Amino acid sequence: MKKLPDDSSVQLALRLGAGARIGRVLASSRLSDALTEIEIGGVSDLGGVPGSDVMIRLLDDAGRPVRRRYSVRRVEPSRDSLTLWLTLDHNGPGTRWSQAVQPGDDVEVIGPRGKITLDSSADWHLFIGDTSGLAAFHRLAESIPLPGRALIAVAVESARDARIGPFAQDLSLDAVIVERLGRALDDPAGLFDALATMSLPPGRGRAYVFGEFHVVRALQVALLDRGLGPDDVSHKAYWRHGRANADHGEPEKSTN
Ligand SMILES: Cc1cc2nc3c(=O)[nH]c(=O)nc-3n(C[C@H](O)[C@H](O)[C@H](O)COP(=O)(O)OP(=O)(O)OC[C@H]3O[C@@H](n4cnc5c(N)ncnc54)[C@H](O)[C@@H]3O)c2cc1C
Repeated sequence: MKKLPDDSSVQLALRLGAGARIGRVLASSRLSDALTEIEIGGVSDLGGVPGSDVMIRLLDDAGRPVRRRYSVRRVEPSRDSLTLWLTLDHNGPGTRWSQAVQPGDDVEVIGPRGKITLDSSADWHLFIGDTSGLAAFHRLAESIPLPGRALIAVAVESARDARIGPFAQDLSLDAVIVERLGRALDDPAGLFDALATMSLPPGRGRAYVFGEFHVVRALQVALLDRGLGPDDVSHKAYWRHGRANADHGEPEKSTN
C-alpha cells in the first residue's frame, strides 16, 4: 500500500501551497569530506525551479519530529527524482540523516519552497556563501541564459570541499575558493577579502547570498559597499553558528 505523509505535513503543505509526499532514497554518495549527495525518487514535481528548496521531516535526538530545508541541486524528470547536497561537518538531525541514509529508505518531503529565483534580466550573477549554498548556486548558475557571466565565492573548510562546476562553455565563470584557515564559522573576513579582490563586471549585477546567519548579514552590507543596490541582493540565512535551526527548519533570527 502506498505510504502517506504524516497529517502534520499534509496540513503544513496545504498552508504553504506546496505538496507533501513520501519519497524513496535512490542513491547517496560522498562528494567530498564535507558534502554528500542524496537522490530521492517519486518527488520530482516537488523540486520547483532553480533556487527552490524542499523540507525534509527528520527526528531529533529525543525522537521528536523536526524539519530541515535543503536546496534542490537538480531535478531529473526521466527518473522522477530530485537531488540534494548536504553538508556533513557538524552534528544535527540533518547531518545524522545524511550519514545514515540508505537506498530504499523512505523520506517525507514538502516542496517546492523558497522565494529566491534567478533574476534572468541581470547582466551578471554573483553567488557568495558557504558549502551549504553550493547546491542552490549550481542550479541557479546552470539556469543563467547563455552566453552568461557568473562569479562565485565560497568559504570552505578545505579546498578539497570546493565543488564548482562544470558549467556550459558559454558561461564565463570567475570562482574564488576561501579556505577557513581556523577562522570561526560566523567570521565573514575570508569572504570580505574575496569580495574586495573580485572585479565586478560592468552592467547590472545580481548577488545571491546563502550561508551562515551572521556572515549573510555582513555580506549584505559589503555588497552594498561594492555598489549593488538593495534590490540586487537576494539573501537567505541557511544556518546559525552555535545554534540548531528551529523545528520549522530556519535559523533563529533574534540578534542575541
Ligand atoms: C532555505 C534553506 C535551504 C538550505 N539548503 C541547504 C543545502 O542545500 N545544503 C545544506 O547542507 N544545508 C542547507 N540548509 C541548511 C539546513 O537546512 C540545515 O540547517 C543544516 O543542514 C543543519 O541541519 P542539522 O539538523 O544537521 O543541524 P542543526 O540541528 O540545525 O544544528 C546543529 C549544530 O550544527 C551547526 N551547523 C548547522 N549547519 C552547519 C554548517 N553548514 N556548518 C557548520 N555547522 C553547522 C549549528 O550551528 C548547530 O550548532 C538550508 C537551509 C535553508 C533555510
